[in-house]
Amino acid sequence: MYLRILTSSFLLSLLPGCMESGYLVTSLAGDPGAAVRPAQGAGLRYTNHRPAATAEEIVPLRIGSFTPGHRAKILRAVNEWNGALNGFVRFTIVEDSGASAANARQSRPWSIMAAEGIGPRVVPGPTIALAHTQPLPGSGGLMIVYIDRIGTRDLGSVVMHELGHVLGIGHGEKGLMAALYHPTDQQCIDKATITAVAAKRRLTVDQLNWCET
Ligand SMILES: [Zn+2]
Repeated sequence: MYLRILTSSFLLSLLPGCMESGYLVTSLAGDPGAAVRPAQGAGLRYTNHRPAATAEEIVPLRIGSFTPGHRAKILRAVNEWNGALNGFVRFTIVEDSGASAANARQSRPWSIMAAEGIGPRVVPGPTIALAHTQPLPGSGGLMIVYIDRIGTRDLGSVVMHELGHVLGIGHGEKGLMAALYHPTDQQCIDKATITAVAAKRRLTVDQLNWCET
């Protein structure tokens, strides 16, 4: 564990560019709307447009060491994105084994890693980072989840937000891509989010899917 923290700190310290854009933060004063009970899927229905025949782009993900419960939440976020992306782009999970030599020509994966007990405070305001996503030069990158800060928050929502950054989009005013964690507004891939992805990747938004609330 200590080695892993050292490794991730070391890697982050080497990374260029603006570090703030990829952070999802939470307020130390508590989450907005935290008193409202999450709807737990009620009303979160996705559109169901005809899927593309084949994925035009595969985005490989490597999931680091998480508890089975945490891993399940990460996989839920990945599956929801694959449904929303509707076959035009597809996240695939790659294993950590040495089998990668055969796939040397495949693009480098994004690694989802847990870090404990560290993580920057993010200015402005009394906030702390829940997670951070940083591309690496060339391809792939790192998603660091500050796992001991998640608490009762939904790890699936946090990872779903960060996967938006993996796809190249920035923060929005509200909804999934808001920079400040919200317990009820970040439970699915909303139309503003998928519209931003479509614009970034030159896809047609009406061929993708989004949740309708
Ligand atoms: Zn973010």
